[in-house]
Amino acid sequence: MSRWDDVSEAAKQLIYDLNELDIAESLASRNAAADRVRALHERVTNQHVDVCTYCSARDYPAYEVPWPCDTIRALDNTEEP
Ligand SMILES: [Zn+2]
Repeated sequence: MSRWDDVSEAAKQLIYDLNELDIAESLASRNAAADRVRALHERVTNQHVDVCTYCSARDYPAYEVPWPCDTIRALDNTEEP
């Protein structure tokens, strides 16, 4: 089995459709977007509890949303603890 066999179909399609500079530019752009989302959903510790400042302020003014929030878990592809 080669490494190619482990590559996702989506990744293979990018290689077929784009050259390496296009792929690198796309990856850099998406990494920057993910960094902006992470910065927006910043973790702060409030009374020994990690909370998401953005979700707490936006969704639940009277409730602090635990960090990692749904958005960070979606970025990290993790389940709710
Ligand atoms: Zn959040």
